[in-house]
Amino acid sequence: MTPADAPAARTALDHSAHPPWPLHPQPLPGETLMSWLARTTALYSLINTADLLDGLGVDTSGVDLDRYTREPVLTALAQRGGSTAERLREMTLAGYTPWLLDSTDPSECDFDTYVHQFSVLLPPGLAMADRRRRTPAAGTWLPWVSKLDTRACPLCIDALDTDADIAVMMAHQYPMLTSCTKHLCRLEFCAVIPGRLVFWDRTPAGSDEHAPPIPVPAVVAEIDRRTAAAMTSGSVELVAGRVQAAVWFRLLRTVVDEVSTPLVRTGWWAKPLSAIWKSTGCSRPLRTSWVPFEQLPWDEQANVLFAAATAIIAVENDEITASGADACLLRPRRYEPVDPGTPPTGSRSPVPTRSAWDGVIAAIDAAVAAARVDSDAARSLFGFARTGCRTEEDVDELAYAFVELGIRLDWD
Ligand SMILES: [Zn+2]
Repeated sequence: MTPADAPAARTALDHSAHPPWPLHPQPLPGETLMSWLARTTALYSLINTADLLDGLGVDTSGVDLDRYTREPVLTALAQRGGSTAERLREMTLAGYTPWLLDSTDPSECDFDTYVHQFSVLLPPGLAMADRRRRTPAAGTWLPWVSKLDTRACPLCIDALDTDADIAVMMAHQYPMLTSCTKHLCRLEFCAVIPGRLVFWDRTPAGSDEHAPPIPVPAVVAEIDRRTAAAMTSGSVELVAGRVQAAVWFRLLRTVVDEVSTPLVRTGWWAKPLSAIWKSTGCSRPLRTSWVPFEQLPWDEQANVLFAAATAIIAVENDEITASGADACLLRPRRYEPVDPGTPPTGSRSPVPTRSAWDGVIAAIDAAVAAARVDSDAARSLFGFARTGCRTEEDVDELAYAFVELGIRLDWD
């Protein structure tokens, strides 16, 4: 990580080749590096992760390889494990720079630059003095990185065909995600022995099974879906269009800070902020005033994320006043109606670089995004789409398509 340990690494790795381990499972999608190494050791008896790292110049005491692993070590592990250094780097937090965070070195992560370059709910500059109260000391903070215990989705673990696939998932270890985006249930704290066992913190009395999964609010599920998409695809579809993952993570962190602002510091804007917290049914944890999100206890982080998710969806649905300079990123572009009966023809007009259909597609995407989280929007969209159905089978097909799109139809 530092120039000082590079020479040691060179001498330790001057072997020209690293013969492959006889047994080496392939990394699972989303798995962390240490989880993969632990699953590898599970295939052998009497071997632990330190043995796999032996001779690579890695100090295994207190070093977090899941955060950052030096390139020569990645290369050696890739050769031994039948993978590539690039694939293994993606299994560390460093593989998510610079879009999730600027660097895994806290001295290169500036709180103010990350958290306050955007403004969504509050006008830029409002309550700057208050924001400074939450600014951690320089060199002590990484965005979205908390001291979390391991979390996993109980239903994902239940669905595994084999214990050999029990793994620690990268995205589940950082507090910007509350839920499993597949099962829409809360991620649960646990201890994982990769390739072997999970011990759940929440277990029914007298059982070693997990307690029933806890569903998360629809707005949280929607924001988590976008965050997961940002991590896996590098971009997120918003109603105004696609934004890079880097924009999404900073925008979300901005809203997290904005909903953490004490109402007394926000003047007129206390009203929408108060409405957001009221609609969550939780009260703003007091220490959010002076403690950065990453250093809050888990249950308080979950409440702040719930408020942030509520705020983002409310801005998108035009339900609250947002006065930030970047609130436009969450609002639909002005809708320009298109007459589907008279498509533009090439003979009459030059082909525009941006087709009018882009607007239609964006509008449909926006309607679908809204319908996923809002039963009124879902009802309207279904009613609109149903006008094209001629038979009951058509209606059934339509209902099935809605379910496929993640739109609930079980409204009252
Ligand atoms: Zn799951």
